[in-house]
Amino acid sequence: MSAREVVTGQPVQYLKGVGPRVAEKLARLGIHQVEDLLFHLPLRYEDRTRIVSMGALRPGESVVVQGEIQLTDIRFGRRRMLLSRISDGTGSLMLRFFHFSNAQKEQLARGVTLRCYGEVRKGAQGLELIHPEYQRVDPQATPEVEESLTAIYPVTEGLHQLSLRQLINQAIELLREGRLQLAQLLPESIRTELGIDDIRDAVLYLHRPPPDVSLQQLEEGRHPAQRALILEELLAHQLGLQRLRLEADTHRAPPLVPDDTLQARFLDGLGFSLTGAQQRVCTEILADMARGTAMQRLVQGDVGSGKTVVAAVAALAAIASGHQAAIMAPTELLAEQHFRNFDTWFMALGISCAFLSGRQPAARRRETLAALAAGEIKLAVGTHALFQDEVVFQRLGLVIIDEQHRFGVHQRLALREKGGDGAHWPHQLIMTATPIPRTLARTAYADLDYSVIDELPPGRTPVETVAISDARRDEVVARLHRACREGRQAYWVCTLIEESESLQAQAAEDTATQLREALGDLRIGLVHGRMKPADKEAVMAAFKVGEIQLLVATTVIEVGVDVPNASLMVIENPERLGLAQLHQLRGRVGRGSTASTCVLLYHGGLSQRARERLAALRETNDGFLIAEKDLQLRGAGELLGTRQSGMVRMKVADLERDMEYLPRVQKAAALMLRDHAQAIEPLIRRWLVEAERVRHA
Ligand code: ADP
Ligand code: MG
Repeated sequence: MSAREVVTGQPVQYLKGVGPRVAEKLARLGIHQVEDLLFHLPLRYEDRTRIVSMGALRPGESVVVQGEIQLTDIRFGRRRMLLSRISDGTGSLMLRFFHFSNAQKEQLARGVTLRCYGEVRKGAQGLELIHPEYQRVDPQATPEVEESLTAIYPVTEGLHQLSLRQLINQAIELLREGRLQLAQLLPESIRTELGIDDIRDAVLYLHRPPPDVSLQQLEEGRHPAQRALILEELLAHQLGLQRLRLEADTHRAPPLVPDDTLQARFLDGLGFSLTGAQQRVCTEILADMARGTAMQRLVQGDVGSGKTVVAAVAALAAIASGHQAAIMAPTELLAEQHFRNFDTWFMALGISCAFLSGRQPAARRRETLAALAAGEIKLAVGTHALFQDEVVFQRLGLVIIDEQHRFGVHQRLALREKGGDGAHWPHQLIMTATPIPRTLARTAYADLDYSVIDELPPGRTPVETVAISDARRDEVVARLHRACREGRQAYWVCTLIEESESLQAQAAEDTATQLREALGDLRIGLVHGRMKPADKEAVMAAFKVGEIQLLVATTVIEVGVDVPNASLMVIENPERLGLAQLHQLRGRVGRGSTASTCVLLYHGGLSQRARERLAALRETNDGFLIAEKDLQLRGAGELLGTRQSGMVRMKVADLERDMEYLPRVQKAAALMLRDHAQAIEPLIRRWLVEAERVRHA
């Protein structure tokens, strides 16, 4: 690179030491251009700015110490190890190595002065450092230490901390020289509104904080320098979604209006009348669909609030207007269930429906695809399989996505693009049972309109929830036995903290075996995520018609499954799940007219927090209150399912931790749109690299 060349906007390959392989690893961290390195902020910091006297050490601290080796020896015991005692006059410390070479032993000779860095631990013979970093130093020379705290960055496989730090150092150097620019993208008035200063200073500060900074403040994300970046990122995110929204508002869509006779026939055939909330939400949806721009509406309704019927009303309007509708569910099981419902309802109205699955025999699938393309099939139900390239609709007017939290914003966008033909776009209706507080919804779903079904159908008896210790497992099993013999059906849900599906499946299999031994006369079934979809469905179908009395399951049954006769649920290790997830699970019972019970079977003692969480669940059946509580006790990440789906992936901000900033950010976003529209684009580009890439992929 030539001396004064401006580097801003250059790909990372511009830097020394970055070839295609390193660039690819950096890309995994969301780093594409040189300035992206500046926004790759430390996870935590180490203090190597001063040498701590050994007399003042406390276990748990990570410190630099310096002293003279008094003794080095190999200890043979259960494990061979190298021990080295060093002292600085104020105290002494043991260095302990499990992996070492002979050369290393020679190096650590008595009388040598060492500088070490590591975490102080309490060992059998006093304080020690296990496998510290160390170097031999000249005791006469003035000790050289770091001037600022040492940043520890998030890394990825094959890219080491030291190499990454070295690259970030290069970027910081370029920034200091002015060859890399970090423009002030926010207008003065917006910065005043948000109470933030210069972004460049904030970035420099966070990469290399001075020794006197409060580490605790940094760790909690409360430092003013962090706040500046967090607010800017939240703002960029908000504006990004709002821009999507504005873009969608320009998408032409066919105006779709219901046929009154058809709708009346459908509603009359249901055997119940819509709740007030269902009616209101139907009206909101139909008003959207009647317009010439594409609907983008999220319908939130607690488990059992009756979202499916609302979706059916929307689908009917599309079909009555000569268009097709598609419903996408997150699992085969749910798609199958929707298909059965819709097929029954719509067959009576002379409307043909089809189920599209990745697993259908090829001939059958070809037939379905042909009928869809010819417009003979009016409603298609399926999973992601619906949106493969070979699936062509004749006139797709409406896309319904059920249980949105299983899909991320990127998938949502991909679908939107998929259904459009350039001139017209399908209307989009998204349904979720995940209740999220309003402020959060306005950020996480800023690109959507929002309706809430805030009323349950009448006649539901709330699920009675009890927490029982595993010590009383036998009682619980006996109660289950009685209930099933009286003709009720029950779920037994096994949870595991491990992400691994195979461990979950194993736990469920073990439990099923035990229960089969204990309850020989009951018909017991098992479903888990490792089973073949066809087998899973066969078991679910048997449960649905009552052939299976007790269903042992993993959390695969969490979403949407509707078996009204099931009125008892036992959840093992409930403390391992989020409240919202427990609430979803519990929503599988209490769907019929019998009083239902949910037993939270916990193992061992419960922490205070766990107790509070289970209490919240016992006290209310209201998904909204539970969501608020969940947010207090757990965090937005889990609530929104971001950890699974990457829905809201941010560099610095954390929706949970930073929720208090959202109202301010929303206000600033409105001001930006009104007064500084030209500043929006660069801001989004700075922060939403990933999202942009996905969109244009
Ligand atoms: P969810 O909102 O969880 O998807 P569903 O649409 O599966 O809920 O509805 C749950 C159950 O309630 C279904 O059996 C459905 O037929 C029934 N249901 C829906 N709306 C009403 C209503 N207004 N009155 C009585 N039952 C209803
Ligand atoms: Mg549902």
